[in-house]
Amino acid sequence: MPSVLIVDDDPDQLVSLKGALRGENLEIDTATSGQETFEVLSKRIPDLVLLNLALPDEHGFDVLRSIRVEPHYDAIPVVFISATDDIDTRVKGLDLGAVEFLVKPLHPTELAARVRALVRQKLKLDQLFEEYKRLSELSLTDPLTGAYNRRALDTFLKARLAESSRHDIPVSCLMFDIDHFKNVNDSHGHDAGDRVLKEVTHLVRVLCRQEDAVIRYGGEEFLIMLLHTSREGAAIFGERLRENVESHDFRVDGGTVKITISAGISSHPEDLDAADPEQMIKRADNRLYQAKHDGRNKVVYA
Ligand code: GH3
Ligand code: MG
Ligand code: MG
Repeated sequence: MPSVLIVDDDPDQLVSLKGALRGENLEIDTATSGQETFEVLSKRIPDLVLLNLALPDEHGFDVLRSIRVEPHYDAIPVVFISATDDIDTRVKGLDLGAVEFLVKPLHPTELAARVRALVRQKLKLDQLFEEYKRLSELSLTDPLTGAYNRRALDTFLKARLAESSRHDIPVSCLMFDIDHFKNVNDSHGHDAGDRVLKEVTHLVRVLCRQEDAVIRYGGEEFLIMLLHTSREGAAIFGERLRENVESHDFRVDGGTVKITISAGISSHPEDLDAADPEQMIKRADNRLYQAKHDGRNKVVYA
C-alpha cells in the first residue's frame, strides 16, 4: 500500500490532516520535527511527504534540502503546507524542489484529491523507472550467459578501466577463449555447447569478486575486468581459473565433457601502454593468442 508521511508539530493539524486522508488507500506515518522526520524516513520511504513549513527544530526548507541530499530519498515528492501565502516563500519552496505549496486552511476533500493525484504520479514514475532499469539491464547483458555484452563494455566498463589508470589504481584485463570449442559443438551438439558456455560463466563468477566485470566478448571468448588487481594477483586468478575449468566436469545431455581455456592478461601499471582501455584489451588479446600458439590450456601475462 502506498504511504504518506505527514510532518507537523501541531497535534490538531496532524489530526485534521490524517482525518482528511482517512478512507484513502494509504499508510500514514507522522513526525513532529525535522529530526523525527529522518527517523521515520529511515524505517519506511513514503510515496509523498506533507511537510509543514514551521517546525520546532528546523525550517521546512532545511528539511527538504536534507531530503534532497540523500540519494535514497531523492525521488520522494514533497508538498509544503503553510499558513503563509507570501509569494516569495512559495516560489522558494517550489524552487527548492517541492512539488506543491499548499496554503492553509486546506479543504479536506481537495487535500485528499491532491494527495491521490500526487501519489498516483509517484507510483507511475516508480513503475517507469523499474521498467527502465529492467530494459537497460537487458540491453547490457548477453541473454545466454547473463554476462555483460560488448555494449556494456563500450558504454561504461571501458570508462571504469580508464578511471583506474587515471588514478593509478591497479587493474587487470583477462581475456580467455575456450580451446577447441568447435569440438564440443561437433560431438555433443550446439545446445551442449550453450550449456558449457553458461557453466563457464558460472565458474568465473564464483571465482571473481563482486566488483569485477565479466563480459562475453565473442562466441566463446570472455573478458574479465579485475579491479584493484595488479599483474601478480591477476596471474594467480588466471591460473586458478584455468585449473578450475580443466578439472571441471561440464554436464551435457547424457554425460559430461572436459574443456580447457587459454588466457591472456594485461595489467596496469605493469604494462606501460595499458592506461588506454583499447590498448589494454588488445594486449590481453595478443597474449591470449600467444597462449594458443604455445599449445593452449595456458595463461600468458607478460
Ligand atoms: P581454438 O582453440 O583455436 O579457440 O579453437 P575453437 O574451436 O574454440 O575456435 P574456433 O574459433 O574455430 O571456433 C569457435 C567455436 O565456438 C565455433 C562456434 O560454433 C562456437 N560458438 C560460438 N558461439 C557459440 C554459441 O553461442 N553457442 C555454441 N554452442 N557455440 C558457439
Ligand atoms: Mg576457441
Ligand atoms: Mg574464439
